[in-house]
Amino acid sequence: MKDCLLNYSFEQLKTIIVDLEEKSFRAGQIFKALHLGLEFSDMTELSKPLREKLSEKYCAQPVTIIKSLKSVDGTEKFLFKLRDGNVIEGVLMKYKYGYTLCVSTQVGCRMGCAFCASGLNGLIRNLECGEILGEVIFVNKYLNGGLGDKRRIINIVLMGSGEPLDNYDNTVSFLKLVSEPNGINISQRNISLSTSGIVPKMYELSKENLSINLTVSLHSPFDEERELIMPVAKAYKISEILDACSAYFKKTGRRYIFEYVLIRGNNDTQRHANALITKLKGRPCHVNLIRLNEVKENDLKSATDKEAYRFLGLLEKGGLSATLRRRMGEDIDGACGQLRQRYIEEKGEI
Ligand code: SAH
Ligand code: SF4
Repeated sequence: MKDCLLNYSFEQLKTIIVDLEEKSFRAGQIFKALHLGLEFSDMTELSKPLREKLSEKYCAQPVTIIKSLKSVDGTEKFLFKLRDGNVIEGVLMKYKYGYTLCVSTQVGCRMGCAFCASGLNGLIRNLECGEILGEVIFVNKYLNGGLGDKRRIINIVLMGSGEPLDNYDNTVSFLKLVSEPNGINISQRNISLSTSGIVPKMYELSKENLSINLTVSLHSPFDEERELIMPVAKAYKISEILDACSAYFKKTGRRYIFEYVLIRGNNDTQRHANALITKLKGRPCHVNLIRLNEVKENDLKSATDKEAYRFLGLLEKGGLSATLRRRMGEDIDGACGQLRQRYIEEKGEI
């Protein structure tokens, strides 16, 4: 398969263009056009021979759309196709202050969390950084957005399919590329990376000099119970995760966030709230409660609204900063990996 130019930084692209015996200023035009979502054939600023030379060797846009579904609440879900036929998904959420895009970092996931549809068929492959970026570029173009101040997407969350820290290098390259001044230029402060808690990679990330938000999927304050819903918990204990979060805070000065999916009767009792308070009180962190999006592949049930608010009240009373995330896009298979799973079932293929 042809190499994808979206994988490269502006500086790397300059070298590629010079190696093609073209003037280096062309790299600026090409970089902008690529990040606006153009195919080579649409880059009319370039001569026809140059466009042909580029398309002989390289691919411009690695992500195309299969379908999009719009929820009654305005959330829009995209099913994207990659060049090798694999499919991934992204979710666009509209908030008062602008659009947030949730992107996938892998095709599938090998972490196998009990409640998640993304891990059902294991990991198929890592996404290249240009493919993760391609999701953002596609949706920005879809919204008629441009580069820099003209971008339409304000926030990015790495909370689609996949474990970003299991695809570390491509994820870090993506974070740098999507915040490049010449491109879409999304502020790193408006990017959140969610991990199931891969401790050594969390330490590595804290040394990258990025100012992104770190989010950890906790889902239980007890190691033994966490292991039952998140197999990765067998490798990394909660105390190790908390130490890695502290290191992240020390390096970056940025408060970290814990995701906590409320599963009825499983992790939403007073005992769980008390243990969370004991473990997290006094830390520079925030707890984001999420009602489970039920998936038909397992029997886990969501806490009811009443139970969720009760749990939130307990955490707040215990002195934690916490919020209950509002439900979004439930009518369109809102949870991570669900839409892709449905597509695979309908087509009978992966
Ligand atoms: N792999 C990373 C990021 C992708 S999952 C991680 O696990 O953090 C993003 C978030 O969606 C995680 O907090 C995950 O626990 C949550 N999630 C997965 N399946 C869900 C479901 N069925 N309902 C609600 N949240 C879910
Ligand atoms: Fe993977 Fe995250 Fe889903 Fe767990 S919750 S299977 S880590 S995508």
